[in-house]
Amino acid sequence: MTDSPQSAPRGVEASFAPTDLEELLKRGLVRLSIAAAGVDPLLDERLQQLRVLLRSECSASDMAELLPDLERAVLAVDTEREQRMASITKHLHSLVEQLLDRDLPPDTRKTLRTIRDQLSTPMYYASAYHAVLEQLVPAQAQTLRSAPGSSGGGLLARLFQRNDGPDVSAEEAASEPQTASEAPVHTGVISDEGTSYSQVAAHVEGILLDLLNQLEVADHQQGLSDQLKLRITEGLNWYELAAVLDQMSQLILLAQQSRQGDFERYLQQLNERLAQFQGNLEDTHSAYSGSLDAGVQLEGAIRDQVEGLHEDVREASDLNSLKATVESKLTLLMHDVEEARSVRQQREHEVSERLNVMVERIQVMEVEAHAFRAHLEEQRQRSLLDNLTGMPNRAGLQKRMEEEYERWQRYGGQLLLAVLDVDHFKSINDGFGHLAGDKVLRLIAQQLSRRLRKSDFIGRFGGEEFVLLLPGTSPEQGETVLEALRSGIEECPFHFKTERVTVTVSIGFTAFQQGDELDAVFERADKAMYAAKAAGRNRLIRA
Ligand code: GH3
Ligand code: MG
Ligand code: MG
Repeated sequence: MTDSPQSAPRGVEASFAPTDLEELLKRGLVRLSIAAAGVDPLLDERLQQLRVLLRSECSASDMAELLPDLERAVLAVDTEREQRMASITKHLHSLVEQLLDRDLPPDTRKTLRTIRDQLSTPMYYASAYHAVLEQLVPAQAQTLRSAPGSSGGGLLARLFQRNDGPDVSAEEAASEPQTASEAPVHTGVISDEGTSYSQVAAHVEGILLDLLNQLEVADHQQGLSDQLKLRITEGLNWYELAAVLDQMSQLILLAQQSRQGDFERYLQQLNERLAQFQGNLEDTHSAYSGSLDAGVQLEGAIRDQVEGLHEDVREASDLNSLKATVESKLTLLMHDVEEARSVRQQREHEVSERLNVMVERIQVMEVEAHAFRAHLEEQRQRSLLDNLTGMPNRAGLQKRMEEEYERWQRYGGQLLLAVLDVDHFKSINDGFGHLAGDKVLRLIAQQLSRRLRKSDFIGRFGGEEFVLLLPGTSPEQGETVLEALRSGIEECPFHFKTERVTVTVSIGFTAFQQGDELDAVFERADKAMYAAKAAGRNRLIRA
């Protein structure tokens, strides 16, 4: 360690350039210092300083300054190591001697003697202790096993055993004052050095009573338990204690067996319930068959079973086997539930798809139905209209007459009905053709529509005959309106080619009167119209 790079051997110098050699030495020193670390804190500190110096651009004087400290640390560690090795050797030697003092099987004794021989000279390497300990540990175990009094009896019996035999009564033991203060009562162990049972009796009795109180015994064991409690409460001497301990161990064993039985029964029950649940689940699952009600039942069954399980587990004692069983069953359960759910989802998806298709179809049908209804309505309306004039036809007229009649019956008031017939229409057809006759009918319809109020109604009764309904109109007002209508048509200029033709109409009208039937009213008006014809046509007659 005191060599500086400058004083390196000449052979090395011959093969390396000075700077290379210096680097090599520095690296070697750093590695050595790392290898030596962990032995002693002070040495570690010096080695760390050395490494810092080596890694920096240090000078020889820097190094010289550190080296004395480093040397001292190394020496101190070496001395301490030697002392420690000697101490360990000494203690191991002493341990082997103590073991050799006991009654030993011959081969154990032989092994221990070999170890003692090895320990007679101090060891240099710490690793040598490893070989020694490898032999010593089993030999020691063998020694302890073969020690007298270690066999037979339970832990309690061994704890309370005295080497000199149980020949001291509680009362006698209490009169041994020299050990009272040394008794390690807190450990519960009575030492061989003569601590008496009486000094720990109260403590032991308290523990035993606690134990009995906490012990859950079967009903038929309760008597024995109570009996033991009574005996302990009354106080025990050394011999009684041994008997009580025997009975207690029996009781504990029985309680343990009973709990085990309960637990096995519980496990059995749990298994049955889980199997039942799984069966139910499968049944419910197969009964599901796509219906929503079945889905609700499945969920209900799962919930019931899981609640049952939950209760069982809550009441059970904490045992690993229970945990394993329940976990495996629950895993299975979860799997089943998951599968059932995925099947249900699939079915719901299918149903939903089907529903969507149905909804789409219904929507299409609704649109079609709407169009159809509109078409029907149009047809119906059309069926109430006259193709030629566009005004209500006989059916429309009939419908409207009934409505007006009903309204008049309900609300009363004035209502007039007029029948209008084109005069000598046959001759128009004959003279100018059927199409010209049609045109005349259209023009008359236009005139009628123009000259009547909105509340008035006009329909083509058939051929060249029209019917008018005038609500809220007195016969006098009706007279005026209809007369204007008649004269208006008369004055209307009909031209056929260049020829002007006068078209006239005969009108008969009547007012609805109390007690009138619709047909009777119509007949009255119709008769009045014929009367107008008879009176020379182109005139208005009130019935
Ligand atoms: P009157 O003054 O007595 O009523 O004589 P008229 O010729 O008008 O009466 P008649 O009942 O003898 O003749 C009616 C004619 O109206 C017979 C028929 O050919 C004709 N007619 C009925 N409906 C139509 C139609 O829609 N178009 C045409 N062009 N003629 C029709
Ligand atoms: Mg006619
Ligand atoms: Mg006519």
